[in-house]
Amino acid sequence: VQFNSVIGPYKGGLRFHPSVNLSIIKFLGFEQIFKNALTGLPIGGGKGGSDFDPKGKSDNEIMRFCQSFMTELYRHIGQDVDVPAGDIGVGGREIGYLFGQYKRIRNAYEGGVLTGKAVGYGGSLARKEATGYGLTFYMREMLKANNITLEGKTAIISGSGNVAIYACEKAQQMGIKVLAMSDSSGCVFDENGINLDVIKDIKEVRRGRIKEYLNIVQSAKYMENTGNIPPIYSIKADIILPCATQNDITIESAKVLVENGTIAVGEGANMPCTNEAIQYFQEHNVLLAPGKAANAGGVATSALEMSQNSIRASWTFEEVDKKLENIMINIT
Ligand code: GLU
Repeated sequence: VQFNSVIGPYKGGLRFHPSVNLSIIKFLGFEQIFKNALTGLPIGGGKGGSDFDPKGKSDNEIMRFCQSFMTELYRHIGQDVDVPAGDIGVGGREIGYLFGQYKRIRNAYEGGVLTGKAVGYGGSLARKEATGYGLTFYMREMLKANNITLEGKTAIISGSGNVAIYACEKAQQMGIKVLAMSDSSGCVFDENGINLDVIKDIKEVRRGRIKEYLNIVQSAKYMENTGNIPPIYSIKADIILPCATQNDITIESAKVLVENGTIAVGEGANMPCTNEAIQYFQEHNVLLAPGKAANAGGVATSALEMSQNSIRASWTFEEVDKKLENIMINIT
C-alpha cells in the first residue's frame, strides 16, 4: 500500500504473518504517514506484506519466498520511490534475501532501496536496536515531564521480537527491572528480572519459544495464554510496554492494569491498545505513550540509514544512537 509521498518516498515495513490482509496493511500504512512525518525526516508513508507464515520454515524456504516476493515487488520500489524495511516476520535475514534478489534483477547496487540491511552491505549501526531504544527514550522523557524517574521502576514487556528485546535492553540499562516478556503462546515471569541474554539466544539465534527460558532459569514461571486476558497483564508493574502486535491490550486487560497501579503504558507495537483501553487509561490517569510517536525510532533510524546510503558513509553506533535520542526527545 503506497499511501503518501508528499515529503519523501513511501516508507514502511513489510509484514509476513498469517493474519496479514489488505485491511491490516492499510491501517499500518495510514499510521505510518503520521509517524514518519513526526520524525521530522523526509519520508512518506507505506506498508506491505504477505500472509506467508515464516514459523517453522527452513532458511531455504524463507529465502525462496523472499526471492519470489521481490521478483514482483521490484517494479514498485526504488530509493526515491518506495523504501520497504522490516516489521513482524521480516528482520535482517529476510531483508538480506530481498536485497540480494533486487540487486540481481536490477544489476546495480542501490543501497537505499531497503532499510534494516546488515551493516556489512549498507545497513546502519543501531538500526536493529532503534525501535526499542527509541521507545525507552520516549518513556523517560514522558515520565520526566511528569516528575517521575525511571530508575528503580518495574516493567513488563509483551512480545519478544526485535522491538521487545531492545526495549528491554535499554530499560535495563536505565535501571528498570523487567519482570516478564511473552510470545504468542504465553509469558515468562522472572522475579529476579529477565535475563536478556537467554531471551536473545532463544529468539534471535535459535528462533524458539519463550517457554524454553525455563530450561535455563528454573526459578522463573511460565504462564500459557488462556482466556481473554493474556497472563502477562495480571503481573503487577509500574510500566507496561506492549511490543507484540495490534489489539493486545483490550478493555479487560486495561482494567486489571489500572487496578494493579500501572503508572504508564508505552506502545512499542503498532496499535497494541484498543480504543476502549486507551480511553480507560486516560480516564484513570495512566500516562500513555501512543505508538505513532513512541515507536517512531525505528523508522527514523531507517531514514538515517537512507541518508548514509546517499552520501556513501557509515556513522558510528554512538553517532546514530545520539541522533535517535534527539529525535525521540523532539517527538516527545
Ligand atoms: N515496521 C517499522 C514501523 O512500524 C519500521 C518501518 C521502517 O523502518 O520503514 O515503523
